[in-house]
Amino acid sequence: MIRWYWLFIPFCCGAQGIDDSLFIRRIYDEALTRGQAYERLRTLCKEVGHRLSGSEGADRAVAWGLANLREMGYDTAWLQPVYVPKWERGTLEKLKVSAAGKSIELSITALGMSVPTNGILEAPIVAVRNFEELETMGSNAIEGRIVFFYEPMDPRFIDTFFAYSGCGKYRLRGASRAAEMGAAGVVVRSLTHATDHHPHTGVVIYNDSFPKIPAAAVSTHDADQLLGWLQKKIPVTGFMELNCSLKEEALSYNVVGEIYGRQPNTFITIGGHLDSWDKGEGAHDDGAGVVHSMEALRILKTLGYQPGFTLRTVLFMNEENGTRGGSAYADSMRWRSEKHYAAIESDRGGFAPRGFSMDVNPRQMKQIEALTPLLLPYQLHLFYKGWSGVDIGPLRRDNPDALLMGFVTDSQRYFDFHHADTDVFEAVNERELTLGAAAMAAIVYLLDKYPVGQ
Ligand SMILES: [Zn+2]
Repeated sequence: MIRWYWLFIPFCCGAQGIDDSLFIRRIYDEALTRGQAYERLRTLCKEVGHRLSGSEGADRAVAWGLANLREMGYDTAWLQPVYVPKWERGTLEKLKVSAAGKSIELSITALGMSVPTNGILEAPIVAVRNFEELETMGSNAIEGRIVFFYEPMDPRFIDTFFAYSGCGKYRLRGASRAAEMGAAGVVVRSLTHATDHHPHTGVVIYNDSFPKIPAAAVSTHDADQLLGWLQKKIPVTGFMELNCSLKEEALSYNVVGEIYGRQPNTFITIGGHLDSWDKGEGAHDDGAGVVHSMEALRILKTLGYQPGFTLRTVLFMNEENGTRGGSAYADSMRWRSEKHYAAIESDRGGFAPRGFSMDVNPRQMKQIEALTPLLLPYQLHLFYKGWSGVDIGPLRRDNPDALLMGFVTDSQRYFDFHHADTDVFEAVNERELTLGAAAMAAIVYLLDKYPVGQ
């Protein structure tokens, strides 16, 4: 059966070669000598600031995104409406603990979407390493307590995202698992390899079958101190206070920029998420992915590249606490009967590029591998089968053969900044960020020019 993408063969030159290597060189030259990603990240971080869904910061970010895409020479740019949850942190995030006659305050932050404590929650704190231990301890040991999940991220993983997924479950689902056994509140060790004083937030997902209990993250430094007391069997009482609240849903937007291709109804989308937590400036997470995606298509347009597919940059709203933007984008593709050939997400920070993690089938993988030698001179060497991204994931539903990819960076320092006050513009290196934008442009160029079949 002849597939639609073979229609592109006449525009291609067969095997890739010298022209392609020269064009990729021009992509990198444009990025490295006239790049705009770093300055654009500066304005996002310093003029817009953090931008949690439904906040004024998010509204400013939407306006910033649209104005920038228009200014950058995209053929068209527009806003795609989406309703998002609106959660506010409030002004109180306190955990005082009393142990051995002493009382100290720990550095905590509410997990996103947490319920408030409604006054001071006073309860004994009990340390639990993991869900198995929670089950073994039984309801008698858990009921009425604040459960402290203390398992640290496993340092043995070289790709730190594996360590993150290993412990992320306590932040995501620890509150409901503990509530099922009668707990009154939950504190989780911050998800970072660093030992520091910054608590790292992130979303908590409640299971509606159990009571919703307040949930917070504690800095790794203070988590170690708390664990020290509890492991010595010193009784610890916590006094926890959160006044966060969930408001009515708010109208927000994905921001979309498009460069017309010869095929108007089949797309390559690249994107990052425009929303961030209300900590720091959302520089690595995901300001970097936002400016990578904007800059990659700007570079192709500036170099006069005529794409076969229609190229889109999408700045997704609400990745952090609802993923409504990703779902709304996939839904809109369905209504308009638009097809996706490929989508690439950048949401692993502005660090040195390493390659792409690919949700593709083995035949597609082979075809992509034939293209990757052109990227080796730019130190892009990781091309493996794996996860693509939260925002582009929903495209799979209507595009079973689409190439879905996640941009892979050097992950060693990402969690020093992730969801914490430390995630500011100054934490991003200009050169590493710039190389990321060039890497995104280069892969879009190759996938567009040499369509990968099923
Ligand atoms: Zn992110």
